[in-house]
Amino acid sequence: MQAVKRSLCWVCGQPLGQYKAFPIGSMCAINRTIAEPPSHLECAEYSVRACPFLSNPRMRRNEKNMPVGHREPCGMMIKRNPGAICIWVTKEFRAMRDGNGALFRLGDPTSVTWWAEGRRATRAEVDHSIGAGLPLFRAEAEKDGPEALAMLDRYIARAQPLLPP
Ligand SMILES: [Zn+2]
Repeated sequence: MQAVKRSLCWVCGQPLGQYKAFPIGSMCAINRTIAEPPSHLECAEYSVRACPFLSNPRMRRNEKNMPVGHREPCGMMIKRNPGAICIWVTKEFRAMRDGNGALFRLGDPTSVTWWAEGRRATRAEVDHSIGAGLPLFRAEAEKDGPEALAMLDRYIARAQPLLPP
């Protein structure tokens, strides 16, 4: 709440400038939705290098010692390690209420970089990560019908120019 209301970095707590950086899993680059508020670019790059979960594709999410009263993030969260992480930089995002929390809808990116193992990711790593996540998205869209499937296809096409060459 503090981060969103006062436009503070999610990592260091200092005020953000006009560019907001979101370290996101590969599938979030498809649907442009994430459950965490933005950071400074420097702080996002620090996170993808230093965070054990973001920098090590074999690492599982650490859910030990969570604070009392913590809640699961909103939206459809994929708990797998995405393998490839995207740092999505944008000037625009929208916070939306979702149940007891918030989701963030990402605006068009001003820049996108891809990371794996604390270094820049290869195209093959990004393709592998998206390929592994798509069946989950497709299964969800199938439940919602043909319009949702068509939208998913549009989302996938929209992400193509943002992938590494
Ligand atoms: Zn920061």
